[in-house]
Amino acid sequence: MTKSVPEAVGIAPEVLAKYEPVIGLEVHVQLLTKSKIFCGCSTRFGDAPNSNVCQVCLGLPGTLPVLNKRAVEMATLASLALNCTVHEHSRFARKNYFYPDLPKGYQISQYELPLATGGWIEVEHGGVKKRIGITRLHLEEDAAKNLHEGFSQSATKAYIDYNRCGTPLCEIVSEPDMRAPEEAYAYLTTLRQILLYTGVSDCNMEEGSLRCDANVSVRLRGSQEFGTKVEVKNLNSFRFLQKAIEYEIERHIGLLESGGHISQETRLWNQTANRTDSMRSKEKAHDYRYFPEPDLLPVHVSGAWREEIRSNMPKMPDWWRDHFIKDYCLGAYDAEALTASRNLAEYFENIVTESSARVEPKLAANWIQNEFLKLANETGKSVQEWPTYAEVAILLGRIQEKMITVASAKKILSRVFKEGKLIEEAVRAEGGVAPILNPSEIEQAAREVIAKNPDNVAKYKAGNEGVFKFFVGQVMRATRGQANPQAVNDILRELLS
Ligand code: ADP
Ligand code: MG
Ligand code: ZN
Repeated sequence: MTKSVPEAVGIAPEVLAKYEPVIGLEVHVQLLTKSKIFCGCSTRFGDAPNSNVCQVCLGLPGTLPVLNKRAVEMATLASLALNCTVHEHSRFARKNYFYPDLPKGYQISQYELPLATGGWIEVEHGGVKKRIGITRLHLEEDAAKNLHEGFSQSATKAYIDYNRCGTPLCEIVSEPDMRAPEEAYAYLTTLRQILLYTGVSDCNMEEGSLRCDANVSVRLRGSQEFGTKVEVKNLNSFRFLQKAIEYEIERHIGLLESGGHISQETRLWNQTANRTDSMRSKEKAHDYRYFPEPDLLPVHVSGAWREEIRSNMPKMPDWWRDHFIKDYCLGAYDAEALTASRNLAEYFENIVTESSARVEPKLAANWIQNEFLKLANETGKSVQEWPTYAEVAILLGRIQEKMITVASAKKILSRVFKEGKLIEEAVRAEGGVAPILNPSEIEQAAREVIAKNPDNVAKYKAGNEGVFKFFVGQVMRATRGQANPQAVNDILRELLS
């Protein structure tokens, strides 16, 4: 990321350096349950507005919530992946406030007894690894979605889509452990990757299934106490997260340097103006009048259930990176690239462990990172839509055995990605131009050429190296250019020696 200095601020670097930023993030993640957290309505994204609603999620009086077990299971899985302690007993509370997107007048959320606490994740920034603490992970319900139309105040229309109301969320609150915008960026990237590996959320920021608020303060370097924090909401991309934090840090320092003080408030990132704007002051903060939700039993996650969930935990990115480095002798860069997603890591693993082909890990790593990712980029195909690992293992095996040239393998893969062909079909389609003879066919042709030219064999054996080119040319002609020249060379050398 490049550092973008907000034009409005512009503080000398030596002044900025006197202060240390302190950052903590609150992240909301929609869980991929099929139905909502307290009713049976679908959570599908993109359905017609207000089509997935019922009395419960519309908050009609007299209705009762019923907790979705799968939501608890997914939140528990996420908690374990984030190294949290999952508590046997947790509890829902009512967080009371009025807003059009909250028809009940309160949100059901875990408050003083959250599902899980005390976790951490390891984050790398600038080559340094650091643990960022996770204070808590709790379950709650999402609110409806407000949609605004029009730009001027008078022409604006507001619509409310209650489909989102009651979607299960887990809120993940970090410790104020981050000390730079880039560190916050790295934390969110790592957190998102871990959650994606667990499969509990699609973490799609554009669709709002991962939302992030940043808490920012600054203090003089060396000082023990934290400064007053400001919370920035509405950070719907990684870029905005980093820019908003950078902006806030400089705004705080500017204020402090000019003798002002920072008021605790909630601000919004204004993406058109590239700055944060005050939304509401925390000094006259909401009193949410939390109290235990009387319509729900406490949440009970037994040790046995927790361990069962843990035993089904997929392997995490760190595990895969270590495995690729230790067992396949790949470099850290390759290991990082190949673990970008769980699907990619598993795809690579499947190719390498496909016993019939015995593909060298480094060869597979290079092909995946270069050709496959390039073609995936061009065609928009996700790993699930790539050719099967078994086919790919055969293709890469042929490259390795020099039965096929790199150039023709690229053509074949291009057809596979762009025309949706199977690899075997693409090989045939490339038949005219693709040198794809196997070594035994090359060897047969080479033996024939040698048998027909005893004089030249004698010359070669007498040390006439120049005559070798003659043999190569003859074999290439005999195989109508469909043999890999390197393979022809190797085979001829062997037969002639
Ligand atoms: P609130 O009650 O205002 O939501 P919390 O104490 O629950 O505040 O903290 C919310 C988030 O703010 C957490 O991610 C925490 O790490 C972070 N945070 C707390 N104090 C500070 C601070 N002084 N500077 C930056 N972040 C902070
Ligand atoms: Mg908060
Ligand atoms: Zn419903």
